[in-house]
Amino acid sequence: MIDLHTHTTESDGTCPPVELIAEAVRAGVEVLSITDHDTFRGYDQALSVARSSGVELICGIELSTKLNGRSVHLLGYFPQPDGEMADFREWVLEMQASRRERNVRLSERLRELGVDVSLEEAEAIGRGMTGRPHFAQILVQKGYVANIRQAFDEYLDESARGYVYRREPQLTEGVRRIRGAGGIASLAHPTRIHGHVAALLPDLCAAGLDAIEAYHSDHTPQETEFFLGLARKHGLKITGGSDFHGALKPEARLGAGCNGNLNIPREVVDAWGRSPAKSPACP
Ligand code: AMP
Ligand code: FE
Ligand code: FE
Ligand code: ZN
Repeated sequence: MIDLHTHTTESDGTCPPVELIAEAVRAGVEVLSITDHDTFRGYDQALSVARSSGVELICGIELSTKLNGRSVHLLGYFPQPDGEMADFREWVLEMQASRRERNVRLSERLRELGVDVSLEEAEAIGRGMTGRPHFAQILVQKGYVANIRQAFDEYLDESARGYVYRREPQLTEGVRRIRGAGGIASLAHPTRIHGHVAALLPDLCAAGLDAIEAYHSDHTPQETEFFLGLARKHGLKITGGSDFHGALKPEARLGAGCNGNLNIPREVVDAWGRSPAKSPACP
C-alpha cells in the first residue's frame, strides 16, 4: 500500500512529521510522500526516521496555484531530490513570505469585520505555515462559526467577506518550477477543479503537466476510473493518496482513505520510471 498525499503539523495537518512515519508503519504504508502545503519542513524532519523505519519517503510538496483566476492545488514529487532543487526551495521560501504578509492583512480585515482573531493566535497553531485553515480553527474555537466549513463560507473563502488577496503562482509556473527541479507535477484532487478537467487537460499537458491524482479519498470508484481513463488518454502518470490531515479531517485515514476506499498498489509509483522530468510528457 502507498500513500502519496499527506500533511503534517508543518502545514495544516495535526500529526508531527516523525509521528506520521510511525503511523505509516502501523497502517502498513510502504511508500509515503509528505506533501505539506508550500513547505519541505515536514519531509526534512521525517527523512532520517523514515530511513530507519523502512518506510520509503518520497520528497513531495503541494503548491497553491491559480488557474483561470481560481485556486488549484498542484502536487510536486521529487523521487531523486538533488542539487537541482536549490532554486526551487528558494522559490518556496518566497511563497511562504507572501503568505505571511497576507496573514497580516487577513487579521486586519477580520478586525474590521468586528472579529477578534489575531495573527498571533493563528500563528500559535500554524507556526511557520500559518494559513486560512488556522484562522478557521480560531473562528470555531471562539464561537464565531459552528465549524471549519462555515468559517470558510462566511469569512475566508474567495467569495467571502473576509477574503484578502494573496499573490499565488499560476499553475503553469508551478509546473515549470517543479519540472525544473527534476520533479513530477501532478494535478491534485481533480474533482475540486472548477470546470471540466477533461476540457482543461490538453492545455495543462502542453504546459508540461506530468500526472494526475486519480486516487484520492474524496473520489468515488467512478471518479477514479474516469481520471485513470484521462491519464491513459493523455499519457499522464498517475498519483494518489489519502490527503491525510490527522484530526483536522479524521475521516481520511492514512493509506486507507475514507471508509477504506483506498488501497493504492506500489505499481502506481513504480510506473513513474526513473528520470521522470527528463522525458517528455503528453506526446
Ligand atoms: P491559504 O493557503 O492560507 O490561503 O489556505 C488554503 C488552504 O485552506 C487550502 O489548502 C485548504 O486546505 C483550505 N481551504 C481552502 N478553501 C477551503 C474551504 N472552502 N473549506 C475548507 N478548507 C479550505
Ligand atoms: Fe490542506
Ligand atoms: Fe489540496
Ligand atoms: Zn493536500
